[in-house]
Amino acid sequence: MKFSNSYIHLGAAFYQRVIPTPVANPELLFWNTQLADNLQINESLASDARLKAQYFSGNQLPENAESIALAYCGHQFGHLSPQLGDGRAHLIGEMLDKNNQRVDIQLKGSGPTPFSRQGDGRCALGPAIREYIMSEAMYFLAIPTSRCLAVVTTGESVYRETLKPGAVVTRVASSHIRVGTFQYFAIRNDIASLTTLLEHSINRHFPEINNTPTNKPLQFLERVMTKQIELVVEWMRVGFIHGVMNTDNVTISGETIDFGPCSMMGIYDPNTVYSAIDTQGRYAFGNQPNITFWNMTRLAECLLPLINQDEKEGIALVEPLLMTFSQQFEQAYFSMLARKLGLPKITPSDHALITDLLENMKNKKLDYTQLFTELTQSLDNTNLANDLKDKLGDWYDTWRAHLAQTQVDIKITKTLMKKSNPVVIPRNHHVESVLKSCQETGETKAVDDFLTVLRSPYDELTTTKNYQDTPSDHDRHYQTFCGT
Ligand code: AMP
Ligand code: MG
Repeated sequence: MKFSNSYIHLGAAFYQRVIPTPVANPELLFWNTQLADNLQINESLASDARLKAQYFSGNQLPENAESIALAYCGHQFGHLSPQLGDGRAHLIGEMLDKNNQRVDIQLKGSGPTPFSRQGDGRCALGPAIREYIMSEAMYFLAIPTSRCLAVVTTGESVYRETLKPGAVVTRVASSHIRVGTFQYFAIRNDIASLTTLLEHSINRHFPEINNTPTNKPLQFLERVMTKQIELVVEWMRVGFIHGVMNTDNVTISGETIDFGPCSMMGIYDPNTVYSAIDTQGRYAFGNQPNITFWNMTRLAECLLPLINQDEKEGIALVEPLLMTFSQQFEQAYFSMLARKLGLPKITPSDHALITDLLENMKNKKLDYTQLFTELTQSLDNTNLANDLKDKLGDWYDTWRAHLAQTQVDIKITKTLMKKSNPVVIPRNHHVESVLKSCQETGETKAVDDFLTVLRSPYDELTTTKNYQDTPSDHDRHYQTFCGT
């Protein structure tokens, strides 16, 4: 494995050098072969499960690996925590994947660091498997996301209300630079480090900005904002609820990261929230765009001193950009929903069609994923079309009339709808059920079978039907917890 670590060269303020704390009895539970192929590490590690367990538990650092815990802070539920940082994670290096893209390799649950505060630096097995399932699902839904390379059990217990088995999960992300990383230096008035961080972030994620070097920090803000809008729209396409969109969990690369209390919406309702700690619904499904705007405003504040030395002039440059957020979001959001309905281009009358459908779904308590799948299939299935007319009333014929107006061949419409509407998502009850099975039996089969289906979310495999059902209580009592 060839490691490098560009982050180390940014300076001592950016991280703490700390190595993982060895665990008693590391055993490889999951290995992501496809991702390992991408990173070209299958050959060097061959089928040596013992070595993989050593490396990806943190018991042994691979050659060239340099282990660091990154500094960052963040607004948690709207309140600033000036000092967070990797409290249970070790960035062991960066690698180039097959496409020459640089990725971070990070162990999580690998022991305490100087940023641990009261935490034990460890991770329970349940949340580690959850992160593996959810990130794999997101990846194959074609949504930007970090991924998991390995889950290793530690042979040790962690205390989370009761004793639970421990694990280390290896996360692969295009970087771990967060809005909270910028905040860390901004609130300390460390302009030199802020400048270094900006340059590093531009080189790593938005090198094209270097070609037009007028006000790079402003261009950077614009790019990050666009990425975040695209991300939240993609989440909303499949019903994903992140659950804890604190600024320390928002990457500037625009990837989904930190899968703690995330969940999937079943019945369409913008107020859906499952996270036990989100009592105010701050991170409810339909509030995610508002929070993205709030988070981008925090990033803008950090960049202000770099945008212009004069605060007033800086604000005069930033405000018009932030003002474009809602229009940019609406445009992207309605275009996404139009594609879900087979409309390649959105017209003003499509807006009413979309809002009527959402209203209809909410009032009739219809399942988001199932309904869009049925609409797709109804294009060439008269019985289903009749069922949907009963379910949705006049709306159905109005929609078909909109489709007819596009004069697009029905086959092409169906192709567009098929790739916009997954036939299967990682439904909460199935995630919980396979997690339980894996934890109780130590067998990975239930998770592997589920993953086989989740890796083809736009096609019906023979086993897909096992995971398409809605839960009997419609998740009325479902709750998720922060993945500690
Ligand atoms: P999260 O809610 O996972 O985004 O974590 C928020 C902060 O708490 C981050 O700084 C984490 O590193 C830290 N943290 C979470 N769990 C633990 C733990 N078990 N031990 C130490 N730090 C933790
Ligand atoms: Mg976090």
